[in-house]
Formats: sequence, C-alpha cells, structure tokens
Amino acid sequence: MNKVIIGVESTAHTFSFGLVTLCGIPRKSHSALYRPEEGGIHPREAADHHSELSSQLIDKLMKTEKIDRSQIEAIAYSQGPGLGPCLRIGANVSRALAEHWQVPLIGVNHCVAHIEIGRNQTGCKDPVLLYVSGGNTQVIARAGDRYQVLGETLDIGIGNMLDKFARTQGLAFPGGPKIEKLAKEWHELNPAADVEEIPLPYSVQGMDLNFSGLLNAALQRINEGHELGAVCWSLQEHAFSACIEVAERALAHTGKRELLLGGGVACNERIREMTQVMCGQRGSIGVWPEKQYCIDNGTMIAELGRRMLESNSITKYNDSLVNPSLRTDHTLVEWD
Ligand code: AMP
Ligand code: MG
Repeated sequence: MNKVIIGVESTAHTFSFGLVTLCGIPRKSHSALYRPEEGGIHPREAADHHSELSSQLIDKLMKTEKIDRSQIEAIAYSQGPGLGPCLRIGANVSRALAEHWQVPLIGVNHCVAHIEIGRNQTGCKDPVLLYVSGGNTQVIARAGDRYQVLGETLDIGIGNMLDKFARTQGLAFPGGPKIEKLAKEWHELNPAADVEEIPLPYSVQGMDLNFSGLLNAALQRINEGHELGAVCWSLQEHAFSACIEVAERALAHTGKRELLLGGGVACNERIREMTQVMCGQRGSIGVWPEKQYCIDNGTMIAELGRRMLESNSITKYNDSLVNPSLRTDHTLVEWD
C-alpha cells in the first residue's frame, strides 16, 4: 500500500488539499476558490470560506484517492508567505490532522513549493523560476543552500494587476484568463497591430519590476476610447515582456540554462510562447508544469513536504506559527 504525504494550501483565495506518494507521484488536488462578491480579496471572509470547506475537501481527497490514515506519513502546510487569516486556517487544520493521525507536521514555504512541483513535473534540474502569480512576481534561482530572489515586483503582483484591471471592466475574479481570451480574440482580428498604437509604460528597473503604473496607464487607454481587447493585448505584451526580460537577465547572470514558469499567470499561452522564443534564442529551455500545478494547489505543498521529510526537516508544534511575510531565501534547501 502506497504511503503518502498530504499537503494543505491556504495562502490566499485558494484552499486546497493534495497529496504525493513517498516516491513523488503527485495526485490531483481538491480545491475551493474564494470569489469576493465585489472588490478584492477580504482576508477575513476568505478565511471563513476556507474554514467552512475544510472537512468537505479533506473527505473528498481521502475518498477519491481511496486512502486511509495508515497510509499517511506526514502533513505539510503553507507556513507563508500569504494572508495571515487564511494561513492560520490551513495551519490550524493541519495541526489538528497531524495530532489526529499522529504524523509529523511540516511547515513549508509556498514560493519554494512552486519550484519543487515544477521540478517534479518537468524534470528540470537547476532552473531559474519565473514565479508569476496573484500576489507574487519573483525571479528565483538556487545559490548554495537557498533559493534566492534575483528580482521581484516592487509593488503589486502581476496577477493582482490583471485581476484589478479586469474588475474595472466588469470581469469577475480571476481576471487573468478573461484578459487572455479578449487579447487573443482581438489579436486574431488585428494580426498586424503594433504595441506602439496602444502605448503603455514598460517598467523594468534592473532586476525588479512594477505593475501599478501599467495598470493606471491601461485604464487611461480605456478612458481615451481604445477597445477593451486592444488594451488587454497591449497590457499582456508589456507586462509579460518585462517579466521575460528580467528572467533572461537572470539566466545570463547565473549561467543556468533552464527557465521554469510557475504561478497562476504561467497558465497563459502568451507568456509561455514568449518564454519559448526567448529561451530558443539563447539556447536555453523553457518549461512549465500543467495548469493544475501552476495555480496554487495542495499537491505542490505535499511535494515540498516530501523533499523536507527526506532531509528530516519537520516542524515542532511550537515552531508551527504562520509567517505572512516569509521570504523565499529564508528556507534552508537541504535536498538535491
Ligand atoms: P495563483 O495566485 O498562483 O493561484 O494564481 C492566480 C492568479 O493567476 C490570478 O491573478 C489569475 O488571474 C491569474 N491567472 C490564472 N490563469 C491565467 C491566465 N490564463 N492568464 C493570466 N493570468 C492568469
Ligand atoms: Mg502561489
């Protein structure tokens, strides 16, 4: 009978339970998405949503995967970074389950989990990760026993910027996929379009990025009468090119040859295409996991838990508090 690690994800909108077997075979997560009735995420309401659904989700996972408690080796949960109230629900549920099942508890770093599920899924060995999600935008690479942040957004996450723009146009959360569709449809009708016709700021500063100025300028283009599809297209072109430029610089500086995409925005076909073009031009390879493992999911938390368990890195109850501002480079990487 296969032994498994359970993973619990609750950093923001998504509450998710997943698992991997001890030899690292991932299984589909069972997730619920908090969708605010209006406005952006309300951390307390998201936490209530998560808490109401926890027993239902874990039941679903256990039944679908036909596992019983004797198979469970450990339970891993997102310890940070994320929204405090949401993180605390995941941590409380995980502490209770660890106690109930009498298995070790493993607090994991959410950003590092995106790298480890990407490595697991794509077979890449030592990638630069372009992590593009709702709340985070970072370029990360391993240096010694840490994953270091080489560049990042100085204001909001790229997904957050897309969601905010979408919301002003009456498009419900998550806005990223809707912007992608509108951009694609518009570009199919206007294949010769030039981004200069819908100018937006291009905001790369060294290895860092920012997206607020881009958001405001896109709203201005709408107010000036540009078509929504055209602005969505230009917004994607500008935002993704900026990310790809920083990722390319990271490849050049580190000498690494694999670029891994992760985070919900990595579901986007256009950023994948840009990745492929840039990597092709410099003799590197661009890879990404399937969509269910790009967005936040419990399986990736289980996978990092598995790597940490292999190196005996388990979390004592007294050290199990969540840390909303946990940094990527805080986590000691003791596995290959
Ligand atoms: P995450 O925070 O990693 O769970 O990812 C959620 C974010 O990814 C949200 O901001 C979504 O709008 C964004 N997202 C999901 N799918 C896409 C897509 N196809 N294109 C752009 N953004 C996306
Ligand atoms: Mg994430």
